[in-house]
Amino acid sequence: MQTNENYAQIQQLIETELNLPSPPAIAVQILNAVQKDDGALSELGDIISSDPVLTAKMLSVANTSLFSNNGEINNIQRAMSVLGTNVIKNIALSFVIASELNSGSGCDFDFDLFWRRAITTAVSAELLSKTVHLDNNDIFVSALLQDIGMLVIGMTKGIEYNTIIKESHRCPLQLLSMEKEKYGFDHQQVSYALLLSWQLPESIYAPILCHHHDENVPEPYANTSEVLNFADQLSAIYIESQTAEKARTIQKNLSNRYKLDENQALELLDNVAINCRKMIESFDLDPGEILPYSTLLQKANEELGKLNLSNEQMILEMGEAKEKAEKLALNLQDANSRLKELVYRDGLTGLYNHRYFQESLANELTRASRYQSPVSLILFDIDFFKKVNDTHGHPAGDLVLMNIARAVTTAVRPCDIVARYGGEEFAVILPETSAAGVKVFAARLRRCVEGIATLVDGQLIYVTVSAGATTFDNSNSKISKSILIETADRGLYQSKQNGRNQVTILEPELSIDL
Ligand code: GH3
Ligand code: MG
Ligand code: MG
Repeated sequence: MQTNENYAQIQQLIETELNLPSPPAIAVQILNAVQKDDGALSELGDIISSDPVLTAKMLSVANTSLFSNNGEINNIQRAMSVLGTNVIKNIALSFVIASELNSGSGCDFDFDLFWRRAITTAVSAELLSKTVHLDNNDIFVSALLQDIGMLVIGMTKGIEYNTIIKESHRCPLQLLSMEKEKYGFDHQQVSYALLLSWQLPESIYAPILCHHHDENVPEPYANTSEVLNFADQLSAIYIESQTAEKARTIQKNLSNRYKLDENQALELLDNVAINCRKMIESFDLDPGEILPYSTLLQKANEELGKLNLSNEQMILEMGEAKEKAEKLALNLQDANSRLKELVYRDGLTGLYNHRYFQESLANELTRASRYQSPVSLILFDIDFFKKVNDTHGHPAGDLVLMNIARAVTTAVRPCDIVARYGGEEFAVILPETSAAGVKVFAARLRRCVEGIATLVDGQLIYVTVSAGATTFDNSNSKISKSILIETADRGLYQSKQNGRNQVTILEPELSIDL
């Protein structure tokens, strides 16, 4: 707080450094009229009424809920009797000063922003003073003009001052100390000096001197000054797009200071926005979008809700997509294995087909070589099968083929591979089976087939098989797949030659490989 002793010095510095604008002529008239005791009412009314634009503005403001809520005020006399001379004088001064100081040649000061901010502060101060029952008819105009020093500095100092405002990040205390450092005075002092020089009532300008400080403010203006400070913060919410967190802090501070409950504080914040719009328009300015704080909060919450919803939705959809993809992968796997079955299975018997037999035998041979383990092969062919077909018909032959396939599949170990080599000829690959082993198994196989009876048209059909078998036992690494097949086939041929229904075991011979 500036003491009175050195304020005179500061006042002098301000007057030398800045071009203090003269008061608008009509403002002087208004002030003079109010100072006169008698006839002031009618003279003030006359001054205002002589300016139709001012009159229209005065009436539009007088009819807002900010100043009046009982009936329509349709002339200045009525406005003065309802609201009181002082209020009317203050509103008139506000319009006159704002319209006079709304531009400056060759300066970059943002007049529109300044006045929108000032009007919002004035509305905030008026509403707050009513809420907290501060009986001060001058609060609106004090609040409106509390930062007029900024405008005056801006008009003289131009870009240099814009930079200071920018660098202060619009933090009032920061701005005050930067101004002090740069010019030796701050904008509060300039506001004070200007309004003093314009001979406005002390009740209007005195509380301004410390309006950004919330402590050490001298009586009798401490309460007003405090309201001005809060009003400044309230207006910042709407004009300087402060964060919701700051708005909440103000709401909390207001509640603490004035014992307002949360709803009262919120209502106050909302009312500022609601009243500002109209008031800013009355001052011929574009209010832009000023949404009540609760609407802003609601919107923010809705957005947040949407965000959460879409997040949840996304997680859900991702889950569904993952599930779908997993299902698809399983289906694909299934389809693939079914396709493989189709490719590798014989349609009639369900046994592996010739192609699979060839690939498997190659694989088993490779494995046998790597692990030094034996692998055996049996080829067998149904004896006189042509006769079965001829006697009982082709379908009966099919049934016989199917029965033999099933029986052989049952007889083998899980690791053995049974395939339909072609026609009525079959093959069995027996991994890990030596020559002695295959001899036993081939004999068992022959006996097994011998015992299978196929019932066709009340008749039992029996068939026999001739088999040839061989074994790869790693004694000769050059034994190939085709040598094994040739050897087994040779054994089969010999079995046929030797009377059928028998097994011939042969050792693979290199010479056979052509
Ligand atoms: P061998 O003892 O010398 O083998 O005499 P075979 O009659 O069994 O031999 P052959 O090669 O003369 O005849 C084979 C018969 O097998 C001829 C063919 O019609 C029949 N056959 C081959 N595939 C099928 C089939 O899928 N179904 C049926 N029903 N018959 C088949
Ligand atoms: Mg045959
Ligand atoms: Mg044959």
